[in-house]
Amino acid sequence: MAGDLSDLYQDLILDHSKNPRNAGPLDGATHQARGNNPLCGDRITVYLTLDGDQIADVKFEARGCAISVASASMMSEMIKGKTVEEATALFEKFHALVTGGTSGEGDGLEELESLAGVRDFPTRIKCATLSWHAMQQALRGAGEEVRTE
Ligand code: ZN
Repeated sequence: MAGDLSDLYQDLILDHSKNPRNAGPLDGATHQARGNNPLCGDRITVYLTLDGDQIADVKFEARGCAISVASASMMSEMIKGKTVEEATALFEKFHALVTGGTSGEGDGLEELESLAGVRDFPTRIKCATLSWHAMQQALRGAGEEVRTE
């Protein structure tokens, strides 16, 4: 494999991938969507419970690489309690962070900076953004599988 991926596997990513927060099915979920990244073999299902336009609860089931699981774990922590609008704004900021190289400082995205190293590995960007795309798909209520291709 080209490049040295070791820099990607920082402590924070390892911690989240080994002990993912909010992992598991969610009883009574009002919205859900699956994500599939066939390039890496990552599969994620994101479950949301919406109370009005607020995300009252979020859980996910993930099978995939450390980056995809860690990103899902961080995403679940960040969007819980947020409104749909706020979660969508976070998605857009995160997407810019991992694809465009903008800084997360001052945006409350410092933790997600640990995932920003993927910007140098285009195939890994899909691992990092998979759960976020699935979350957006779930919020739109489409309920269909999102694929990274
Ligand atoms: Zn992956």
